[in-house]
Amino acid sequence: MIPASFLQDLLTRVDIVEVVGRHVELKKAGINHKGLCPFHGEKTPSFIVSPSRQTYHCFGCGAHGDAIRFLTEQVGLAFPEAVRDLAQQVGMQVPEEDIDPAERARAAQAKARQATLSEVLEKAAAHYKAQLKGHARAIDYLKRRGLTGTVAARFGLGYAPEGWHSLASAFAHYDDPLLAEAGLVIVQGDEGEEQKRYDRFRDRVMFPIRSVKGEVIGFGGRVLDQGEPKYLNSPETPVFSKGRELYGLYEARRALRERGYALVVEGYMDVVALAQSGLGNAVATLGTACTAEHVQKLFRHTDSVVFSFDGDSAGRRAAGRALEASLPHATDLRSVKFLFLPPEHDPDSFVREQGLAAFEQRVAQAVPLSRQLIEHAGEGLDLSSAEGRSKMLALARPLWSALPAGLLRGQVLTALADAAQMPVVTLEAAWVDAPRSAVARQPGAWPTPRRRLTPAAVNLLDRTAWLLTRHADLWFSIPAPEHERLAGQPPPHGPFFCALERLLHDHGSLTPETLLDEMARLPDAALLAPLVQRIRALHHFDDEEAPAAQFEVLVLRLRQQAVDDELQLLMESGDLSQDAAQRGKALLSLRAELKRPRPST
Ligand SMILES: [Zn+2]
Repeated sequence: MIPASFLQDLLTRVDIVEVVGRHVELKKAGINHKGLCPFHGEKTPSFIVSPSRQTYHCFGCGAHGDAIRFLTEQVGLAFPEAVRDLAQQVGMQVPEEDIDPAERARAAQAKARQATLSEVLEKAAAHYKAQLKGHARAIDYLKRRGLTGTVAARFGLGYAPEGWHSLASAFAHYDDPLLAEAGLVIVQGDEGEEQKRYDRFRDRVMFPIRSVKGEVIGFGGRVLDQGEPKYLNSPETPVFSKGRELYGLYEARRALRERGYALVVEGYMDVVALAQSGLGNAVATLGTACTAEHVQKLFRHTDSVVFSFDGDSAGRRAAGRALEASLPHATDLRSVKFLFLPPEHDPDSFVREQGLAAFEQRVAQAVPLSRQLIEHAGEGLDLSSAEGRSKMLALARPLWSALPAGLLRGQVLTALADAAQMPVVTLEAAWVDAPRSAVARQPGAWPTPRRRLTPAAVNLLDRTAWLLTRHADLWFSIPAPEHERLAGQPPPHGPFFCALERLLHDHGSLTPETLLDEMARLPDAALLAPLVQRIRALHHFDDEEAPAAQFEVLVLRLRQQAVDDELQLLMESGDLSQDAAQRGKALLSLRAELKRPRPST
């Protein structure tokens, strides 16, 4: 785990305008910079990057965060990757305490190797692309599939010529072991004179597979006419893992935001053909079933995933696996749907025959996850008998249990009870254990700080931390968004509230002394120490009457401050989109509402 103190340090050194500016065109606006929001489609800017706060904020869709968050949400990097990326840019070394030096050396070596492999693959991609120009048969094939040169270029399509050693013309040393390691060349026989080497991909249309960062990590090759196998993929290599990668994700990033969902189809030709028809938001797994890792990756880029399957029995089975992979990620704010097309169609042929609008209508009517779960569990069972219904429930239970806590989970329970013709309370009694504690935050993964603090805010946060130390149970009296707000404060307060939440979940209620002792034992103790010291020193802050009411006031004041802060940013940034103006109005009325005296209860 990366210590919070390091993250804090890193964020003060990184220039967020530069980081965001690499992906979004920014113009100066007052003391800030503005541009078109990359998180939602818009024509006039609502998206502000603030160098003084080192954050970005969109008044249209509410996206906000710091440089790390931007790289995870916009570029799709995993958290540690984003941190490493930024650290490299400012010349910092990410501390990895738990790793011994030998392990670290191995990791560095593996990384260097990966970089070399990427270079080799890039070079091969350029070679295949150049070969396409001279081979009319391959061009003909793509034309027959309705592809234009623009789309072919966008996906970097190429052609691997016939013959066993075509790559020898692209690489100075055909016997370089890297070519075999990259999966481009197959080596047969033992070392020595008997050893044979030849190109893996021969006489195939080549689809480079790119990582979310845009690097070529592998290839898919399709035969032109008849021949087996129809599709051939790169083998697993240090840079390529089929269970993790999705074809077309890099190319689809923009369309995912514009169309608002990802369409998961079966093959790379489908992805490219759909892009040609105007549906740029399709991705494909690489000849494997959909995994939970695939789904997680998609949800970094969109809130809505639609799986498309053939209506036949193989399609049903694939849908079952996609359902299982999706369940752990189906939170209340996300949508997962299953689209079954008529048996004679794949998505591409459907779009070409019936048009984009008809396809989108199908997508809108696709089967939601909740219904697919029930249908999957009840498949082939006679639900008119008590035995059939009970078996359906038994099969549904592990699926239902895989859903994260939330409203959807409750809704599915109700629907299952309905389908089984029994009162939901009976099913609830059988399935729902003692209430599970809310999902504990992952260490080091708290929401990133939104702003620099004013002295008044520090005071407010110190008091909140102190009050919560004395009356930890109050933590549970506020709704989740307030938890997020507290946890999202800059260090030491944000990490303090995160640690508090974690300790409460792990140990239940603790006395103030034990709580502070436990905090001193955490990996981030050094970061929390000054605050913990202040809290220990504050024997009497106020008189301790009605702590709950005091806490409520503190939380309200923090909300007011968040509203004021956003208004301030809006005013600093001058002329913005209509969305931003509307947000301004909403903020003003929210501020008025928060200031209104409340009837005491
Ligand atoms: Zn936005």
